Amino acid sequence: TAASGGGLVAYADSAAESAPEPSHDAPKKKVLVLGTGWAGTSFLKNLDCSQYEVKVISPRNYFAFTPLLPSVTCGTVEPRSIIEPIRRMFEKKSKDVTFYEAECFKIDASKKTVHCRSAVGTNLDGNGDFMLDYDYLVVALGATVNTFNTPGVLEHCHFLKEVEDAQKIRRSVIDCFEKASLPNISEEEKRKTLHFVVIGGGPTGVEFAAELHDFLVEDLVKLYPAIQEFVKITIIQSGEHILNMFDKRIAAFAELKFQRDGIEVATGFRVVKVSDDLITMKSKSVGEEVSVPYGMAVWSAGIGTRPVIMDFMQQIGQTNRRALATNEWLRVRECEGVYAIGDCATVGQRKIMDDISMVFKMADKDNSGTLTLKEINDVLEDICIRYPQVELYMKSMHMLDIADLIKDAIGDSHKESMVVDIEEFKKALSHVDSQVKSAPATAQVASQQGNYLAECFNKMEKCKEQPEGPLRMTGGSGRHFFRPFRYKHLGQFAPLGGEQAAAELPGDWVSMGHSTQWLWYSVYASKQVSWRTRVLVVSDWTRRFIFGRDSSR
Ligand code: FAD
Ligand code: MG
Ligand code: MG
Ligand code: MG
Ligand code: MG
Repeated sequence: TAASGGGLVAYADSAAESAPEPSHDAPKKKVLVLGTGWAGTSFLKNLDCSQYEVKVISPRNYFAFTPLLPSVTCGTVEPRSIIEPIRRMFEKKSKDVTFYEAECFKIDASKKTVHCRSAVGTNLDGNGDFMLDYDYLVVALGATVNTFNTPGVLEHCHFLKEVEDAQKIRRSVIDCFEKASLPNISEEEKRKTLHFVVIGGGPTGVEFAAELHDFLVEDLVKLYPAIQEFVKITIIQSGEHILNMFDKRIAAFAELKFQRDGIEVATGFRVVKVSDDLITMKSKSVGEEVSVPYGMAVWSAGIGTRPVIMDFMQQIGQTNRRALATNEWLRVRECEGVYAIGDCATVGQRKIMDDISMVFKMADKDNSGTLTLKEINDVLEDICIRYPQVELYMKSMHMLDIADLIKDAIGDSHKESMVVDIEEFKKALSHVDSQVKSAPATAQVASQQGNYLAECFNKMEKCKEQPEGPLRMTGGSGRHFFRPFRYKHLGQFAPLGGEQAAAELPGDWVSMGHSTQWLWYSVYASKQVSWRTRVLVVSDWTRRFIFGRDSSR
């Protein structure tokens, strides 16, 4: 759809091609939001609900602060402290939002309806099914666990995705200790029962292992002194290193710390089968299988696609994908009025090489068939908004301006006159698309997307004329438009236990140790969604410092 204006970026399919009619007494457009996780709530919090009729569906009537879930597994933080009731979020802002506690099991994009099921039967025939229609649908359903079809995982492993999972883990850890304390239990049986295995060396698995280790050494060994020598924690990681999405220095620091703590890190092993008392894994290098007895296992090896998203992708022809593909304005491709944010979606960034002739033509204002440096510079800002990879590439190559990029590709001799034809222009930009990366599945991305999409919805009326593009090139400066979504990475933390943490901050800055843990405390306190949860979380931490963790089930 190329109808949305004449600017450089306007050929792309539009985020707002179905913007509301300006008429004032027309009924408000219906916005339906699926999910109340990071993406969904950040959208709702920033949406101007007076412009729309807003409905929200989620099987849980609360938002959960997932980064503190590992702390819930060992009672460092109480489950109540990390959840905020959805209805309370809107009560305070006097937002006009209707919430239904139900699960969406089918999206019908052709009829613009969504099929939902509540856990309580409300209909005459005893089920709780109902249907809702929408003008705009915001899909923020998150992801589910991924077992990679490994036999036995669903039956025997714990997961760490929801609040209930964390509570189950907490009970199960205590169960293992109580069981191992019973009389007539052999040493071998004790060793097995107190072997805690974490499958997956990503941030969640690592943080859980660290949390568990703290719980053991700070609290449980005092309460169960007779069995402390039998306790063991193992992390199984298929890659070469744990925390491989972090800076190498952080991975090395974590591995060294775990080694000192006595946490075993088995890298290069893939779990192939789990039974009720054995975990079987295969060495990637040797190919040999080994089985280890265990008492409790937590699977955190990856995320997968929810069935309702799978079904929807099938409908709209997005097959063989892990997540819904959207354009840079977060609208689901080939699907009018449907947007997707957070873990259930990925943004497909357009490649500049696909549009190179068009970009060239746009820049070549005098139709000379060549570009001067000034012509390129005049549109550079627009290019960088539409294709952020250009800026990323120049940064990664330490280039100061576009002249450097061109010089690099076609040689110094052009520096004086600096006129390029289409072939040279192509050559200069040929490596730029290598910088296109998909954003990670994190709360940070999800909440930025929710925020961004709400802003687009808030100014949809204003931007209706020229929804997607800075039109300076065609003389339309000062107009309202939507910039494409752009993720801003603010850094990430890896708490490692023992009051130590590692952090990767913007600008290639890495920090590790005790002071970083204090930074972690302050950042995570400040990120709480309400003063109520902030007070609860901080008082949980304080209580833990003074009295230790609660080890009752
Ligand atoms: P979610 O937050 O998962 O929300 C999905 C929502 O959809 C939920 O409300 C759910 O109830 C609802 N839902 C599910 N199925 C249906 C259905 N059928 N119908 C209607 N509603 C449905 N990220 C970070 O950036 N930093 C961290 O430190 C961090 N730590 C993490 C620790 C753990 C233990 C976990 C599990 C995740 C962590 N993450 C972290 C990742 C982060 O939680 C996710 O990236 C984020 O939650 C994604 O947001 P979302 O809104 O897409 O999905
Ligand atoms: Mg959500
Ligand atoms: Mg969430
Ligand atoms: Mg995503
Ligand atoms: Mg020219």
